[in-house]
Amino acid sequence: MLHRGDDMKEFNLYLSNLEKWVEDVLQKLNLEDNHPLNQSIQSYREEIATVRNKNASVDELKNLELKGRKLFKQITGRRIPYGEHQLPPLPYPYDALEPYISKRIMELHHSKHHQSYVDGLNKAEQEIYIKKSSSEIKHWLREQAFNGSGHYLHSIFWKNMTPNSTKEPIKQIKKQIETDFGSWPNFKGTFTEAANSVEGVGWAILFYSPKANRLGIQTIEKHQLFSVSNTLPLLVLDVWEHAYYLQYQTEKGKYIDNWWNVVNWEDVNSRFINASVAG
Ligand code: MN
Repeated sequence: MLHRGDDMKEFNLYLSNLEKWVEDVLQKLNLEDNHPLNQSIQSYREEIATVRNKNASVDELKNLELKGRKLFKQITGRRIPYGEHQLPPLPYPYDALEPYISKRIMELHHSKHHQSYVDGLNKAEQEIYIKKSSSEIKHWLREQAFNGSGHYLHSIFWKNMTPNSTKEPIKQIKKQIETDFGSWPNFKGTFTEAANSVEGVGWAILFYSPKANRLGIQTIEKHQLFSVSNTLPLLVLDVWEHAYYLQYQTEKGKYIDNWWNVVNWEDVNSRFINASVAG
């Protein structure tokens, strides 16, 4: 997202984000030297360096941004066929988030609840895209919205947490939170209030808007109602009762306060960089 105007600081931040993103991608993919994707990434990296070292024109910057988006699509474009979603593995053991979230909650939440959203999404997709059950399409589209949002949000939620939390925002996302919300405590306060305001079942979400080039906070009812379209979730907090009741019973506020101890700010930061580069 290139909204640099004439502001060099913003432009430099944008280039740093691009560079950091390329490094992250290279590290994660760990491709062989002669892999075609590796060569495209390397040459993109060189282009960023060239642009950084000269007084580039707006057209050159726009061109660089477009190339970045194309590359991002090539890298992330692995296609999952309809009806073939799978439960992603939890990135840590079930007891890793104790004492803040108990092993039993994580076990049920991941292996039962999340699995049921995966199954529900696969079923809905089979009906809509494979069997083409046109007389019942309204029903299956609702199922797709509920289970699809459930599956995608939980997939982010697991990665948004870690036993080795920095306990506060870091790097680019730290700067962006300070720019958009004034300070980390301000953001934390509003997000906590938002999460506490959810009635019954839902989520609190920190999102990035590519259109506005800034962050925002939203609550979602169930998995799919009241979400803000065309925004990208960076940090999501599940406040369905199944996420805390076994351990916290009616003390939802305590669960939310404790949850801040397991937030994976590295993950939130890479989501922010990906969203702002490729969004
Ligand atoms: Mn859940």
